[in-house]
Amino acid sequence: MSGLTRREFLKRTLASGAAAGLVLSGGAGMARAASSQVGTFYDLTKCDGCGGTKTPRCVSACREENRSNFPDPVPPDRIEFYWPNKKKEDWQDRKDLTTRLTPYNWTFVQGVSVEHNGRRVEVFIPRRCMHCHNPPCANLCPFGAQSKSPEGPVLINKDLCLGGAKCRDVCPWGIPARQAGVGLYMKIAPKYLGAGVMYKCDLCYHRVKKGGVPACVEACPRKAIVFGDLNSVRETARKRAGEIGGFLYGDKENGGTSTFYVSPVPFEKINMELQAQRSKQPDPGAPGFPLMPVGVGNFLDSANGIMAGILVAPVAGAVAAGYAAYKTMKEG
Ligand code: SF4
Ligand code: SF4
Ligand code: SF4
Repeated sequence: MSGLTRREFLKRTLASGAAAGLVLSGGAGMARAASSQVGTFYDLTKCDGCGGTKTPRCVSACREENRSNFPDPVPPDRIEFYWPNKKKEDWQDRKDLTTRLTPYNWTFVQGVSVEHNGRRVEVFIPRRCMHCHNPPCANLCPFGAQSKSPEGPVLINKDLCLGGAKCRDVCPWGIPARQAGVGLYMKIAPKYLGAGVMYKCDLCYHRVKKGGVPACVEACPRKAIVFGDLNSVRETARKRAGEIGGFLYGDKENGGTSTFYVSPVPFEKINMELQAQRSKQPDPGAPGFPLMPVGVGNFLDSANGIMAGILVAPVAGAVAAGYAAYKTMKEG
């Protein structure tokens, strides 16, 4: 609508935000029927890191799949700093990096050597978003740019994301990665609002919603990644852990996730080894395996988390409504 003035745009934004807030605050943290959802199980007794190469098959399949479906974010040559922040995260010169999570690389494989029961065991661990059941990243996004899909994948709306990185702050594994100089903020107020767009694995949602299998699963030559109905995958992972006297991760962590790892060595030891690697070479895009006390859910279950959810909802509604008005204004 070409007649929409900036003042009208703001008025609509604030009014709709207040209304939307009521709906969103009630919806945060709602459980979904697990039976209709999908899950993934990484069998670490089978994964060999594709021989320890820097770009294993699952990683190259992910890059090819997502480049052809979602072109790389293309920021301008010179990205301005935005007020009041002096930090900008620009990965465009490191697009080829495959050894950590970046906006251009949504999965990678960690390798560790761990001493267990008197022997040294090499373990390779593919990493990406865990697609949590009650994801704090989605429920606490101040802009309402993330959501949990009915099938389970947790999705970022790149058209709505302002790159504030709240999702990364509240993710126990710090998964989402930011690219500066792209997205909505560049169109609205690049010097004052937002910082880019957050990117992460979306579990190949374009495939999953059509009943397909993620590209990384299809590409694995060792059948180390099992994908399917969440309950069956969880059972398979639990059974495998029992069979090998191994260790399970992802079932209870962060209040439960749809990604399960089974390892022949304790995750505590894997985590210690990863921490040692990181202290030698700090790398925030290489998550560990933090152990979370059983019985304690994720951040959203705490009093602070509930309050944060209530507080962010009106902002999310405001931004969603503002974006809709902005699009109308632009298209009109
Ligand atoms: S999961 Fe499969 S494709 Fe990926 S590193 Fe392991 S063996 Fe290779
Ligand atoms: S792993 Fe992190 S980014 Fe992924 S759904 Fe869970 S909280 Fe969100
Ligand atoms: S599920 Fe898809 S987006 Fe996620 S790591 Fe695998 S290939 Fe990449």
